[in-house]
Amino acid sequence: MVTIEHLEVRYGKDKPPALAIQSLSIAKGERVAVIGPSGAGKSTFLRCLKGYVEPFQGKIEILGCNLFLAPRRQRDRINRRMGIIYQQFHLVPGMTVWQNVLCGRLGGARTLPSLLGLFGKRDRQIAWEAICEVGLVDLAHQKAKTLSGGEQQRVAVARALAQRPSLILADEPVSSLDPLRAAEVLELLSEVQAHHDTTLVMSLHQPRLAIAYAKRIIGLKDGRVVFDGPAETLTESIMEGIYGGKKLLLFDDAATGSR
Ligand code: ADP
Ligand code: MG
Repeated sequence: MVTIEHLEVRYGKDKPPALAIQSLSIAKGERVAVIGPSGAGKSTFLRCLKGYVEPFQGKIEILGCNLFLAPRRQRDRINRRMGIIYQQFHLVPGMTVWQNVLCGRLGGARTLPSLLGLFGKRDRQIAWEAICEVGLVDLAHQKAKTLSGGEQQRVAVARALAQRPSLILADEPVSSLDPLRAAEVLELLSEVQAHHDTTLVMSLHQPRLAIAYAKRIIGLKDGRVVFDGPAETLTESIMEGIYGGKKLLLFDDAATGSR
């Protein structure tokens, strides 16, 4: 699904790399959390996968397509199969839930008719299925700006789903939500991932959530991968290494026991 080799991303020639990954691959159907302190390169990693940030050097292949060398048309096709979810939801506030989710079809539908709001029957059907899947039928005709944070993030998940994605990228999808809503949104993302056997790569601020909702964890520090393994193998001392020294009370609940 995703193959990365000798990747280096710099924001400015003279700056140190924001991301430097020798080799990394993610298989179809994996549910991966990227963790690390602020500035570790989590967002850069996700933006790179989406093709928003061009590497200084190295290669990213997604679904067999070299993201930065393939012909434009092929890259667009791959891009449409990647849904992205942000911390701040990024919905159009004055549009309804239904209209926001339909926007997920923009890349797939014929451009001019869709810009005029004329989506075909198939696009409308796919968008409606996505709304049903995330449980927003009752709110479908309400404007996005009237919804709570948790509801807005559900809309963002539905919009990503409307792309019929092979890969869902989520950059701190629950950092703006209270703990209960955060758990609900991560639950939803996990269900969606499993149901569609899609690949999910999300950055999470709280390692505990990463352990609870991801199967594989990638730990970034200063743009480098310092841990990559099954969630259950992440120990307190590895965590200290990723977050730098200080003892962190990460495993203080019953679920993670004595690690
Ligand atoms: P994270 O998401 O883990 O907090 P980021 O990927 O946002 O980390 O940032 C990684 C590094 O790249 C940081 O040092 C940050 O300051 C730098 N950086 C990120 N985006 C930009 C940008 N648009 N311009 C310049 N530097 C950036
Ligand atoms: Mg970030």
